[in-house]
Amino acid sequence: MSPRSAAALLLSCGLMLAATGPSPEASLVDTAGGNDWPGFGRTYGEQHYSPLTEINRDSVGKLGLVWSMDLEPGNSATGPIEVDGVLYFARFYSVVNAVDAKTGKLLWTYDPHAPEASGVRLRQGWGSRGVAWWNGKIYTATQDGRLIALDAKTGKPVWAMQTLDQGDPRFISGPPRVFDGKVIIGNAGADEAAIRGYVTAYDAETGKQLWRFWTVPGEPAKGFENAAMEMASKTWAGEWWKHGGGGTVWNSIAYDKDSDTVFIGTGNGSPWNRKVRSAGQGDNLFLCSIVALDAKTGQYKWHYQINPGESWDFNAAMDMHLADLTIDGRARKTLITAPKNGFLYVLDRTNGKLISAEPFVPVTWAKGIDRATGRPIENPGIRYESGVTTISPTPVGAHSWVPSAFSRQTGLVYIPAIELEATYDDRGITAANWKREGGMALNYAVGSSIAFPKGRENSASALVAWDPVRQKQVWRVPTPVHFNGGLLTTGGNLVFQGQMDDRFNAYDATNGKRLWSFDAKAPVIAPPISYRIDGRQYVTVITGNGTSGGFLGSALARYGIDYRTQARRVLTFAIGGTASLPPKERYVATAVEDPEYRADPAAAAHGEAIYNMRCVVCHGGGVAAAGVAPDLRGSPIILSAESFDQVVRDGALVPNGMPRYAELTDKDRAGLRQFFRASAQTLRQSTAAKPAR
Ligand code: CA
Repeated sequence: MSPRSAAALLLSCGLMLAATGPSPEASLVDTAGGNDWPGFGRTYGEQHYSPLTEINRDSVGKLGLVWSMDLEPGNSATGPIEVDGVLYFARFYSVVNAVDAKTGKLLWTYDPHAPEASGVRLRQGWGSRGVAWWNGKIYTATQDGRLIALDAKTGKPVWAMQTLDQGDPRFISGPPRVFDGKVIIGNAGADEAAIRGYVTAYDAETGKQLWRFWTVPGEPAKGFENAAMEMASKTWAGEWWKHGGGGTVWNSIAYDKDSDTVFIGTGNGSPWNRKVRSAGQGDNLFLCSIVALDAKTGQYKWHYQINPGESWDFNAAMDMHLADLTIDGRARKTLITAPKNGFLYVLDRTNGKLISAEPFVPVTWAKGIDRATGRPIENPGIRYESGVTTISPTPVGAHSWVPSAFSRQTGLVYIPAIELEATYDDRGITAANWKREGGMALNYAVGSSIAFPKGRENSASALVAWDPVRQKQVWRVPTPVHFNGGLLTTGGNLVFQGQMDDRFNAYDATNGKRLWSFDAKAPVIAPPISYRIDGRQYVTVITGNGTSGGFLGSALARYGIDYRTQARRVLTFAIGGTASLPPKERYVATAVEDPEYRADPAAAAHGEAIYNMRCVVCHGGGVAAAGVAPDLRGSPIILSAESFDQVVRDGALVPNGMPRYAELTDKDRAGLRQFFRASAQTLRQSTAAKPAR
């Protein structure tokens, strides 16, 4: 059945409930029309593909900016959607904006005040990666666990559900998905807390909970929720439930209408190290897996586990593209995913069987994936049997949350690929002592330490075009630093991608030739979208480096990216657009004047150790700068113990996204402040040593 006749059938069946706008479902199953972009990956199949052709290889040279809209500071690496000429997106912590897509006029804003409601959960996660639409409502999920339905016309809440229990350390950053009148959301937090993953489906109209599926088994003595959990429990050892287990569904969910199946991608184990988590034994289902569920009931259908006995934060939570392919002369209904572990998997989505898997980046942890068993052929030593191992890819992932895309036109998958290696070290860490390793810190999550090599930031990412039928690379374009932008591919035979160095590019989808490039005056990490209003095709992307900077403080300094100065904007393009952007405010690190500073190396060392445990992910490694959070060397707050304590101990900047750390002692806070002042002193000295700019 063609998409158009499918839509017509839905209408004739009387399933269209909304009096305004498109039918609730037609645009989400639409593969040919493409006027709207109503879901994170546009349609149920999450291809991040627009069939529109007005912007194409011949016309893209005339693509220009139509309008831009400045956004407030805070994470803006988020996927927008478009329905009926209105753009919707959630910036910062689920602050939802509705904008006239033709003009850039702000229609409404809804702020759920998530940082204030989040408590310690504010220490994890990054804000919202996307929103969903259904039948005149916009759905957003918050850091503190609320799922909120807003009236798409007014931005007023229609219903709100708290999806987490009181004191639950989980949080939500992923986009909700909507299908068949249900809205589904997972959550995150297994890197830093002892939790079990789950997804929950709610009635899209009322918010009533319909079903919940847990991804890992709980304590056997309490009984299992279903047969799937009982089956999964046989793959765990020791007292795993004390550690939570993990397997959160923090990002990717897809839906196949034909079989009424929801596919969820599950995350890493909690903690990562199986020796600690599960007595070193078992596959630990359903960690790091694609799990298929009956959409009506949430009942288990099948699973495919990407990394049995997960031990590296290799989760399977990256995009799942549903595509119908012809492989070896056979029509196959496939699910394609490029998870963190560096292999591109093609699964039969009717039964979860592996069709093929090949690496799209250098991979050292496995020789390959056995096509008969579907299991990886692991290289010796990768489970840090000797205590230490260096492998690629890494916990950052060969592919992170920024979307890959599947083109219905070229039949290729496009992957924002990352090439890195990391060293895992669990010497001295045992199941008995691991919790003492450090609270809300990486070592707690890992059950090992983790280190990245220095100096590889410059050439460690690429845009990869991959043929999923032949399992072969078709072309590859290197991109700057170790993180690049999410992807859009179109019927105009184009691939759009942003970069950390402010470029927003369009490539020929067949050969990777760069056909168009725009200076966005800011990093572009978020996924672009495309849609059509009154016959004109638009492309929209939101700028800002998001949260990808914590590991690359020095690289970000090179590109002049900083929390305070970087531009966060909505950019909308069309053929013939002539709008322009103001010049970039280039960041120059400046230390605050501090005449009363006296060196105290012991206190600074104590502070640095705390910094590297608790602050580094947002404020940046190596130097106290990154772009995700302010460069503290230039902050007057470090000059005053009183101001510093108000922020760190009392939470004065929680509304801005700075978590409260009430448990730090006077000595800890004094040490931290001394570390920042010492870092500022180092910067002052290096600035003084250089000639004035
Ligand atoms: Ca993780």
